[in-house]
Amino acid sequence: MKKLVLGIESTAHTIGVALVSQTGKTVSQEKTRVLSNELAKYPSSKAGFIPRKLADHHAEHYATLLKQALEKAGVDAREIDAIAFSQGPGIGHSLRVGYMAAKSAAQLLDKPLVPVNHTIAHVEAGKWATGAIDPLTVYVSGGNTQILALEKSGGAYRYRVYGETLDVGIGNFLDNAGRLLELDPPDAVGVMLAAKQYHEKELVDLPYTVKGVDLAFSGLLSAIKRSTADHNALAYAAQENAYAMLVEAAERCLCHTNKKQVMLVGGVAQNPRLQEMFASMCDEHGTTLKAVPTAYAGDNGAMIAVTGVKMLASGTEWKSTEPNQGLRIDGQEFKWND
Ligand code: MG
Repeated sequence: MKKLVLGIESTAHTIGVALVSQTGKTVSQEKTRVLSNELAKYPSSKAGFIPRKLADHHAEHYATLLKQALEKAGVDAREIDAIAFSQGPGIGHSLRVGYMAAKSAAQLLDKPLVPVNHTIAHVEAGKWATGAIDPLTVYVSGGNTQILALEKSGGAYRYRVYGETLDVGIGNFLDNAGRLLELDPPDAVGVMLAAKQYHEKELVDLPYTVKGVDLAFSGLLSAIKRSTADHNALAYAAQENAYAMLVEAAERCLCHTNKKQVMLVGGVAQNPRLQEMFASMCDEHGTTLKAVPTAYAGDNGAMIAVTGVKMLASGTEWKSTEPNQGLRIDGQEFKWND
C-alpha cells in the first residue's frame, strides 16, 4: 500500500516542507521516495538569530513552500495520509510555527499528526540517504554536537548519547567565530573559506577541550576574541582544533561501541576538512565513513517525513504531540533496530 507523508521542519533557521511516498513497511531508497523537499532559510547576519523574527520568517514562507511541494510532487493535499513535524529540540518560537502548520493541516485533512524528534530525523534520514547500517553517528549542526548509537535496553531500542558538547554546538561556535572575525559570510562558511586562504598552516595556540567523550567550545571562542593573530590564521586554527576535538571524542566512542560504520550528519557534516579528518581516523580502525549528502545535511522537511514514515511503519508510539524545545534523543523508545 502506498502512503503519502507531509514533513514539516521548523526547529531553527530553516522552514522546510516535503512530500515523501512510501510503499511497504521498510524504509529504503527504493521504497521511500522524496517527491519534493522545499525550504527557505533565515539569512545569517551579524546579529545572529532573533527568535521572533525567525518565527515571522517561517510563517511568511510556509504557505508558498507547501504549494511548491505539492506542485513538484504532483499531488493533491487530499492525498496526504499523515503529517509529520519537528517536535523538538529547537527554538520555541520557530517550533510553534511548524506545529501550528502541521496541526491545522492534520485537522483540516483529518489525518494523523506525527511528532518527530529532530535529532532522530537527522540520524534516520542519514541512514536512508547513505545506506548506513547501525552506524556510530556524529551529529554536527548549529545547535547540536552529539555522538550517538542505537542500543537495546529491555526489549526496546533507543539512541544513546555517548558524547556531546558541554556548551554550544560546533556549528554555533563556528558561526560565532565567523561573526567575531567579521568574515564573509559572517558564519561557519566564512571560517571555512578563510581557513582555505591560510596557506602557512601554522596553528595559532588555541584551547583544545576534550573531557573524555565530551567537548567544550566556548573557551576557544574567548581565546579567538582575545587573540591579535591574523584572521585567516585564526579561522584555520578554530576549524582544526574544533574538528580534531570531535574526531578524538568520536574515536573513543568508536572503540567503545565497536560499530563498523561512522556516519556524519547535520549541516557541518558537509565540510570537506571535517570529512577528511574523519576518513583518516576511520581508515586506521578499518571502519567505513558515510557522510550525508548535501541535500539532506542541513535541516529539511524530507528528513522529518522519512522519520515519520518509519515511525508509522514500525508502529512506534508517542505520548504527546506538543512541541518540546528541550526534547532529547535518548528519552524515546523505538520499535526499529536497523
Ligand atoms: Mg538540525
